[in-house]
Amino acid sequence: MHEVPGGEILGKLRELKARRVLIQTPEGLKREAQSLADFLEENGIETIISGDVNYGACDPADREARLLGCDALIHLGHSYMQLHLEVPTIFVPAFANVEVIPALEKNMEEIRRLGKKIALATTAQHIHKLEEAREFLEKRGFEVLVGEGDSRVSWPGQVLGCNFSAARVDAEGILFIGAGYFHPLGVALATGKPTLAVNPYSGDATWMEREAERLIRKRWAQIARAMDAQKFGVITSTKKGQLRLAEARRVVRLLRENGRYARLMAMNHINYPALEGFDFDAYVVVACPRVPMDDYENWRKPVLTPTEVEILLGLREDYAFDEILG
Ligand code: SF4
Repeated sequence: MHEVPGGEILGKLRELKARRVLIQTPEGLKREAQSLADFLEENGIETIISGDVNYGACDPADREARLLGCDALIHLGHSYMQLHLEVPTIFVPAFANVEVIPALEKNMEEIRRLGKKIALATTAQHIHKLEEAREFLEKRGFEVLVGEGDSRVSWPGQVLGCNFSAARVDAEGILFIGAGYFHPLGVALATGKPTLAVNPYSGDATWMEREAERLIRKRWAQIARAMDAQKFGVITSTKKGQLRLAEARRVVRLLRENGRYARLMAMNHINYPALEGFDFDAYVVVACPRVPMDDYENWRKPVLTPTEVEILLGLREDYAFDEILG
């Protein structure tokens, strides 16, 4: 359960002299969004809740806020991302209410297998516990590094599903704290270093090597399926933080230079059903890297990332995770 700091948000809105605001929320904070709307209305601020599902700070509804005549946007659930926004935006990250030390304590033996010089990485949800984790590990004799990361992340040590810059440090292994496999998998693939994911909710620890191999096998299968494809739809996103037009153009150029037909496309919510009816043999998603990786089973046509296109065309041999670097 996350707490949304209504009083603090109200204070910031008053500073902005906002009279009407739009709230956007990820799936898991819908009720909190509704309570926040009630609270703001009680305090004299007209509030509209966006019903569109939001997956990241890369997709702020500032354009919609402006269209609705709002003076500000409240973006719940994600930390600040450096983007050019059309209205003042208050990012309200959701910090998980779970302790991380018990899970670290339970898995000390596994953590020691990473080496003495380790890097810590986590998602925004647990970032407030990173310093505590660092102290705990340093007291146990580790040299702990926390990478700065580039301008796409908000805090040192934070990784996104599209950005592992904070994990690229001179360590022997990476200790990832958090739930889910996508982020630690990305860390393992992006750094090529032993990566142990410790889940503070379950207390489980998982080495990512085998998971990474499994994922790479699946991705090679996608590349093989696309090998004979002649016509490619290359899709970029109209979401602000996923709009990679230059990269999408580069992919189109590469495909054309290598004798394939390629057409540049743009979509907001990239999903296969919306693409039914186009005459393409395969697609390349040049937007959120999670779309082709997480959702490919729902696509009837092969769907690749830009780096996978390079492999397909024989321009690269080693597998590389798609990243959006800041
Ligand atoms: Fe997350 Fe994808 Fe947005 Fe990156 S592009 S922040 S992985 S939703």
